[in-house]
Amino acid sequence: MSVSGRADQIQVAKVIGIPIYLHFSWLIIFGLIVWTLSTGYFPAKYPDLPASSYWAKGLVASLLFFVSILLHELGHAVVARLHGLRTRSITLFIFGGVAQLEKDPRDGRAEFWMAAAGPVVSLALAGFFYACANLPFVGPSAAAVAKYLALINLILAVFNLVPAFPMDGGRLLRGALWGPLGKARATRIASTAGTFFAFLLIFIGVFSLIRGDALGGLWYILIGWFIKDASTASYQQVRLDEALRGVTVRDAMVDTVVTVPSAGSVAEAARELFLRTGYGGYPVTRGDAVIGLLCLKDVLRLSAEEREATSVQGAMRPLTDAIVTEPDVPLPLAIARMAQAGTARLLVMHGDQLVGLLTMSGVIRRLKVREVLAT
Ligand SMILES: [Zn+2]
Repeated sequence: MSVSGRADQIQVAKVIGIPIYLHFSWLIIFGLIVWTLSTGYFPAKYPDLPASSYWAKGLVASLLFFVSILLHELGHAVVARLHGLRTRSITLFIFGGVAQLEKDPRDGRAEFWMAAAGPVVSLALAGFFYACANLPFVGPSAAAVAKYLALINLILAVFNLVPAFPMDGGRLLRGALWGPLGKARATRIASTAGTFFAFLLIFIGVFSLIRGDALGGLWYILIGWFIKDASTASYQQVRLDEALRGVTVRDAMVDTVVTVPSAGSVAEAARELFLRTGYGGYPVTRGDAVIGLLCLKDVLRLSAEEREATSVQGAMRPLTDAIVTEPDVPLPLAIARMAQAGTARLLVMHGDQLVGLLTMSGVIRRLKVREVLAT
């Protein structure tokens, strides 16, 4: 086991090169399912057995249930790989599993088959466990567990096939509409269906609460809320992609740039530039050449005395590929580079020549203007 980049999940395995994570919320649902099966489902279906038998069945059934979810997600991952898409990770959490793809599929066909793979695996597992339960040499205890697993895999397949994005059924719908309508409209329709279904679940949840089923009611509300958030987020991502399509760095950069000479002190730069013009960063020049970038962050790192004693050149980030972009680069690539470099601005250079400055606030302002003018 190792801790991943995120503190709230741990890696428990690696299958066909894909790291498998358990999110801490998975423990809650795992405990809840073991408890429900051992004290509710199995005692009701198979009365008059010792408690230890119920707990053993509950534990084995819960473990195999999560193995089933893992296989469902691996189904998505394998078909994604056949379409040339890598799966970054698979995470089991309170609402089941999620396979994190490196990027969106290229076309509707790939999306359709990737989405179909999970429910197909669940249906196959349902058939497999049903067959196991009816084999002559399988004892009554194992048969009871197998019957439960057949049922739960069938429910998993059917629930995931509801046409509500970002669930599998919603992805099938988007995949089918993508070709004829384009990705943006297909996503809008699938997300709308997702939001509708989410509110339906929340409504059912509230109704169950009123009727006195607190746990079931809360559960529906939570799942509904989760789907509503996910469908809104994925729709916004598509809108952002659409808004940025065909836009280059040149379209979004500032081309009149205030620069700071390398020889002066940081304190001087703070007084003369940062305080006066109010920008977050300035290209640093020596003669005609640009040699780096001085950001507000670099100034704030220093104490008042240090600012007096340090030259701009001593405090700046030196010119490297990480903080430079060409004017003809697509804007989404430049934004990704900013995120990687952990900076909110890039120098736009054409050869040795500084032609502009790309800032995150400038990009956001531009997107807002486009949105206002488009509606
Ligand atoms: Zn799925």
